[in-house]
Amino acid sequence: MTANTNHGLVNNLKKAGIFQSERVEKAMKATDRGKYVKYDPYRDSPQQIGYGATISAPHMHAHALENLAPFLRPGMKVLDVGCGSGYLTACLAEMVGPEGKVVGIDHIPQLVKLATDNVKNDRPELLESLRVEFILGDGRKGYPEEAPYDCIHVGAAAEKMPQDLIDQLKSPGRIFIPVGSNSQYIYQIDKDSDGNVTKKSLMGVM
Ligand code: SAH
Repeated sequence: MTANTNHGLVNNLKKAGIFQSERVEKAMKATDRGKYVKYDPYRDSPQQIGYGATISAPHMHAHALENLAPFLRPGMKVLDVGCGSGYLTACLAEMVGPEGKVVGIDHIPQLVKLATDNVKNDRPELLESLRVEFILGDGRKGYPEEAPYDCIHVGAAAEKMPQDLIDQLKSPGRIFIPVGSNSQYIYQIDKDSDGNVTKKSLMGVM
């Protein structure tokens, strides 16, 4: 599935039933994947971004945004672990609006710079207003300085359930996280308003 424009890419994902939410459509249309990927950005496939990292395929990002949508309402706070290209960080920021905040964290300094440069090139106002902030660090430990978060997106596959991230989640809140060596298992971890934590495999969406 490929398109010539960012709108074409998002329309293809919508037609394929990857997402339903109009808010997801708006966020993906507001974020030009062509500013984050050098070659063939409007094709639905993952791509190398250097330093051993990969930007996920657009349908994976659409799944993540759709899954987290109830926790991406205007004014909400988000942590994006393994921000890589910065693409999804910008989509998340669009969904939480001008009163919201997204912290993107990566452990590779060059990728923190890449994400910053990409967002500066695509939507500089997100950085100027501090709606988006990129941090260098080990995302498995979260980022307690800005906690708690309404939701946490994890782009880097984890070997086990990340207790530090669960601790930094609001009640209610949600984590979207690939677990396992080939990251083929996506989990949704929910903390309800009483603080009870449940985990659910989202295998069906893959
Ligand atoms: N979500 C991004 C990148 C996904 S690739 C995108 O779609 O563009 C996974 C990213 O996680 C890489 O950028 C990698 O550097 C980062 N990463 C891996 N382990 C990490 C850790 N422990 N802490 C922070 N970032 C990590």
